[in-house]
Amino acid sequence: MRLSERITQITGGGSDGWDVFYRARRMLSEGQAVTELTIGEHDTRTDPSILRAMELSARNGHTGYAMVPGTDLLRDTVAARVQTRTGVPTFRNNVLITPGGQAALFAAHMAVCDPGDVGLYLDPYYATYPGTIRGVGAVARAVQTPADDAFQPQAERIDAAAEGAVSLLINTPNNPTGVVYSRQSLGAVADVCKRRDLWLISDEVYDTQVWDGEHLSPRALPDMAERTLVVGSMSKSHAMTGSRCGWVVGPEEVIAHLINLATHTTYGVPGFVQDASSFALTAGVELEEKIAAPFRRRRSLAMDILASQNIVGLVPAQGAMYLMLDIRATGMSGDAFANALLDAHKIAVMPGESFGKAAAGHIRVAMTVADERFAVALKTLCEFASHLARKHAAE
Ligand code: PMP
Repeated sequence: MRLSERITQITGGGSDGWDVFYRARRMLSEGQAVTELTIGEHDTRTDPSILRAMELSARNGHTGYAMVPGTDLLRDTVAARVQTRTGVPTFRNNVLITPGGQAALFAAHMAVCDPGDVGLYLDPYYATYPGTIRGVGAVARAVQTPADDAFQPQAERIDAAAEGAVSLLINTPNNPTGVVYSRQSLGAVADVCKRRDLWLISDEVYDTQVWDGEHLSPRALPDMAERTLVVGSMSKSHAMTGSRCGWVVGPEEVIAHLINLATHTTYGVPGFVQDASSFALTAGVELEEKIAAPFRRRRSLAMDILASQNIVGLVPAQGAMYLMLDIRATGMSGDAFANALLDAHKIAVMPGESFGKAAAGHIRVAMTVADERFAVALKTLCEFASHLARKHAAE
């Protein structure tokens, strides 16, 4: 039987760039002691206070169908939070609650891309981006944000790729680079969106994890609220990856259509998860800081370790739970380096090439293991790179 092109083309074919990750998982399942610095998941679990709120809600009967657009309480809570953080007036009708940020990314593209339209995304990119765009029947077109531009978006590059495009997807703080987009970069992105009449889909799921500089939501820039759809999530800010709770914030008209999409796809998010999320979002900034603290600590450990050598380059690590390391001095690709590191030292990192062309010759390190183990792994990685670089220089 024939399957739809839409479903068979989602991955775009070929390797998905996760070979090292799968290999590390296989080694772990064989009982080998692999240090996994691969995926973006906290090494802590959801806070007990959030779990108590979840249990209380469920015990009080919030286990039936919840309101499809999200509960009034959570929509109001998200609206108030966004308004406080950005200064942009935001109301319940600007918010759709979704089963995680990923569903919000899909919904946002469903709202603005017709089949055959071009959806732009920036390379390096979070793994699901091109597939999400293809998943709605659109054509995914990458715009490079290379290491030489400090992985910051450049308006000229976006402009040059904008023919036939209806949307641009950006992510700050950024996965995989750890870069936070500057006010200047975002201003230029906003200008090009206005000039080229593009929707801006702004993935801000790491907005509570900023170590250096400030997070700016481009929805707050002049005349951008009407053309920006913000994607948010409880996953990273509150260590609630498994709860599947996120949102789209945007113009009321878009949200009204997205409610129809939710009615015919997800039919909403569990009420007890939404109640737990409302609790978490109003529990105070201390809770968010507690969840972000291990990454802040490890980032500073990493800066010290990397400062004592000059082979491995650190891309400014401004936010999110990752470090992007430049290993070009070894003469190897990120992929070859990651495989060699796994073989030699049982340390698993992601090749930059898994995230597109622009991060070639780099590796992404997730700061998701305990401090001591993280520091040992990073030192080993640097020594290994230094050994390989000496070998390379002698060749
Ligand atoms: N955007 C980015 C940049 C991410 O890194 C992730 C998760 N790794 C997501 C969106 C999706 O997260 P979730 O669906 O858990 O909210």
